[in-house]
Amino acid sequence: MAYGMPSSESVRAPEAGARLPSRVEPGALARRLARWSGLFLFLDYDGTLAEIAPTPEEAVTAPGAVGALRRLIGAPGVAVAVVSGRPLAELTGRLPLSGLWLVGEHGAWVRYPDGRSQPLLEAGNVGAALDELERRAALVLGGRPGWRVERKTAGLALHYRQVAPEEAARLLPRIQDLWLRPMAVAGLEVVHGHKVLEVRPRMIDKGRAVKWLLDQRPGLRPVYLGDDTADEDAFAAVAERGGLGVLVARNSRPSEARLRLSEPAEVVRFLTALVAERTGQIHP
Ligand SMILES: [Mg+2]
Repeated sequence: MAYGMPSSESVRAPEAGARLPSRVEPGALARRLARWSGLFLFLDYDGTLAEIAPTPEEAVTAPGAVGALRRLIGAPGVAVAVVSGRPLAELTGRLPLSGLWLVGEHGAWVRYPDGRSQPLLEAGNVGAALDELERRAALVLGGRPGWRVERKTAGLALHYRQVAPEEAARLLPRIQDLWLRPMAVAGLEVVHGHKVLEVRPRMIDKGRAVKWLLDQRPGLRPVYLGDDTADEDAFAAVAERGGLGVLVARNSRPSEARLRLSEPAEVVRFLTALVAERTGQIHP
């Protein structure tokens, strides 16, 4: 294998048990969940509740999503959480809903339904290592346009959606080579997302966060909707807890999720149908 293949890299590719999820209609999925006595609904944000945009700032919550979530939060026997790689403050601004659980930075932070927030899993002190990764990325990128390092409290994201694919293919391995040693020393790992490299502490992933939230609300059965590699841990976690994973993707691909919706607009149709099923209210 190439010298540069980082050993501390964790490509959250679906595991051997992964298979192609079955296509499901939004209404059919809602009817299926109507029969569950208690439901904990987990949703990723980017690519699930919002279409992927050229930059994270430009992403917009899908029309109708906030209203449907507000009504679901009030439904009997339902808890709702949004689980994202974004920092909590960004999620709070995009989803101004009381009663919603929020998980930020892949599980490093949680905001309770009453608005309190706390570190969810101990990330350790990774600040100096993240500084070093930023410095090393800058050595390779040298101010090239299109690349963006987003610093978070317990990780960082290297966005390259606006970079030509050939340039990304050429420079990403060099950056990852330079990151290898400081990441290993600090216990950090890389997860490949849609045109983004996410660096985060090994201890943190969405699957652990989902299990922690389920432990706070025993008796609820989980459903998790997500679109990206980082969601695979959560799909596996809900399967382990007797729940259901739903991949949001226009094209099928192997996943730990068992079902598939095609896009955020379909997620909104599912949420709206679920409101009707669980509250008896029909909203246009
Ligand atoms: Mg996503």
